[in-house]
Amino acid sequence: MKHKFVAKRYWKEEVPPMSIVDKLAQRYDDVIDLSLGDPDLVTDPIIIDKAFEDARKGHTKYTDFRGDAELRQEICNYYKEEYDYEVDDEEIFVTASGTHAMCLAFCGILDPGDEVIIHAPYYTYYTTQIKFAGGVPVILDCYEEEGFQLNVQRMETLITERTKAIVVNTPNNPTGVCMTRETLMAVAELAKKYDLLVVADDIYTAYSFGEPFIPMTSLPGMKERTITLNSYSKDYTMTGWRVGQIIAPPPVIRAINSVNDAVMFTAPSISQRAAIHAIRNRKTVQPPMIEEYKKRVFYAADRINAMKNLSVMPPQGTFYLLINIKKLGMDCMRASDLILNEAHVLTVPGISFGACGEGYVRIACTKEIEVLKEAFDRMEKVKALVE
Ligand code: PLP
Repeated sequence: MKHKFVAKRYWKEEVPPMSIVDKLAQRYDDVIDLSLGDPDLVTDPIIIDKAFEDARKGHTKYTDFRGDAELRQEICNYYKEEYDYEVDDEEIFVTASGTHAMCLAFCGILDPGDEVIIHAPYYTYYTTQIKFAGGVPVILDCYEEEGFQLNVQRMETLITERTKAIVVNTPNNPTGVCMTRETLMAVAELAKKYDLLVVADDIYTAYSFGEPFIPMTSLPGMKERTITLNSYSKDYTMTGWRVGQIIAPPPVIRAINSVNDAVMFTAPSISQRAAIHAIRNRKTVQPPMIEEYKKRVFYAADRINAMKNLSVMPPQGTFYLLINIKKLGMDCMRASDLILNEAHVLTVPGISFGACGEGYVRIACTKEIEVLKEAFDRMEKVKALVE
């Protein structure tokens, strides 16, 4: 019988960036892979032990559709304790990761042709998911000269009749920048002026090294128009557990519920139990973890800035650094290739995060200091980077 598998055209055109990176990591035996944002630290044993205890006690079934009731209560408590902000139970939907949350959110709110403004450089999957949901991504370029803060005047010029939402990601992947209170307030004003939703991707909340984190939803008048995406992946080094959540106005939650009913019913029960224990034990488990990543990004920034032809802004948040390679006089694909071929260090070319990422490569400091040291020692031996 003739094999008739033909991928849908859309997926043939989209090149999954992670599969490319996987291949590159295999080019040499001793590659130091700084490409992926998968934290190397294992989930704290308190969380693992308690989640497995709960599984043994019977938490192995479907949970409520909007998530384990105890987890929803913990999420409400968390927002009250951390931000003195009231989240109502019907505003919560527990998901199987931030990626799942994002997909449900876009599928839940977008009609075909609806536009969503994304600030670039951006997390690669926003555009994929918006298109997947039938929407149209509209890109707002941001620049290092403006501290990679999003420029609200320029953003306003992109708003059309079809604009439905604005994505805001702070602390930001890939720039590592935290949006200032002024920037967030200005976006909020714009959203209110044009009656837009804001999709706030808050998944690096714990990694705000400079200014304290401000949830977009907590700004005046934003509760009824903000869809907050959260994940336990980075804030608790739990990428493999696949658990996250959406906080949004109840009509949006109802739409999301309908989408998810047809996709996966509920997030994994054991991972939801782990999320409960993560929140409850956050004061113990988060500080050493955050301190470790903070130490790494500051170390990495110093080493990069010591190389004549590379530079990076002072770290503000996340575990990413977007390295300026403009002095090399080559594009970011070639620069990334050069660093891989001559130092066996794998970086991500900036254009993976949108056209304005040209001139940059991104690293994730998800390796311990000794490994980072080896990576930068190798890079310092590459003439083009230092002479
Ligand atoms: N949002 C941003 C900005 C990210 O960087 C990531 C992962 O790297 C995600 C969302 C999705 O994370 P997860 O699906 O592991 O929750």
